[in-house]
Amino acid sequence: MGKEFLSQHNIYFIERDINKDTEARMELQKRGISGVPTFLIGDEVVVGFDRAKLLQLIDHRLIQCEQCSQKMRVPVNKGRIKVTCPKCAHELTVTT
Ligand SMILES: [Zn+2]
Repeated sequence: MGKEFLSQHNIYFIERDINKDTEARMELQKRGISGVPTFLIGDEVVVGFDRAKLLQLIDHRLIQCEQCSQKMRVPVNKGRIKVTCPKCAHELTVTT
């Protein structure tokens, strides 16, 4: 259900199965979260499938790095902002 929702909104995501992925399980434990699904959006955590909350946090759009084509999420309506590519450290100025 969560996956479908994210796809419908063209939201790029990484799915991790805490039953198989020890690292993901540790990450949740560290944050004291036991419920699934859990959505990590930047530093924000949404436990459970809360559409309204997710959309609010995902008020972002995807841009692509000019150098390495890495996709990144940038906030909308924040004017001109500087973004550093997480992959190649290329700096872009984006009008949001
Ligand atoms: Zn890049």
